[in-house]
Amino acid sequence: MADRDSRTYIRVHDGMDEHPKIEGLSDAAFRTFFRGLFYSSRQRTDGLLTDAAWRNRGSARSRRELVDAGLAHPPGYECPHPECPTPPRGHVQLHDYLDWQRSAAEIAALTQKRSESGRKGGKARATRQASAKQTPGQTGSKVEAESETDTETSLRSVGTRVRGTRLTDDFTVTDEMRSWAHDQGYADRWIDAATASFADYWRAQPGQRGVKTDWPATWRNWLRREAERGRPLAAAGAGAGSSTRPAWDF
Ligand SMILES: [Zn+2]
Repeated sequence: MADRDSRTYIRVHDGMDEHPKIEGLSDAAFRTFFRGLFYSSRQRTDGLLTDAAWRNRGSARSRRELVDAGLAHPPGYECPHPECPTPPRGHVQLHDYLDWQRSAAEIAALTQKRSESGRKGGKARATRQASAKQTPGQTGSKVEAESETDTETSLRSVGTRVRGTRLTDDFTVTDEMRSWAHDQGYADRWIDAATASFADYWRAQPGQRGVKTDWPATWRNWLRREAERGRPLAAAGAGAGSSTRPAWDF
């Protein structure tokens, strides 16, 4: 990889193609999936593609394959993973995108951070250049990339600040949220039980997995999923608290 590189990259696990959801894909669908990832990273859409962009990335058949495999979600699809957003009308959401790929906020924060350190110039850049064995004298105003390892580290530290928060102990269901839940036909007792399992699950998630940018949205997704499963109240969390999800669990 080039020492100095302002392009963005997607992250791909080297066991990805062995996952059952991927293993069964045709070559065309595999390509379409990757083109979706590329597009979303470059356009910073957090895994969301407009129908037009989606159509341009593969044939109807390969796109259908990805939807059927649960790798691309059309509007109305409720992913079993509560952290996977439901796309708005006219869009497709790539499954678990933000679990693996950089969010738009992460990329923007890193870009800004590099730009600022570039303007300050001097010591920081000299240090980077020395450690990266780069030639001196290049402009500091452009976006700079360190080695991939350094980049990953920067992204993580920036992302923790920008990307979201962990669920706080005082998380409560606001009147607005409850009113939304009533509109879905959920009863108060059911809402409270589902909220309790929601809180248990997310507080048990380690590190970045337990960090979200929009807790009310995550909560709404959780309730929809619980309702779809039709879980009895008493069991509403019993099986959902799995915090031992494997690292590449489509
Ligand atoms: Zn999903």
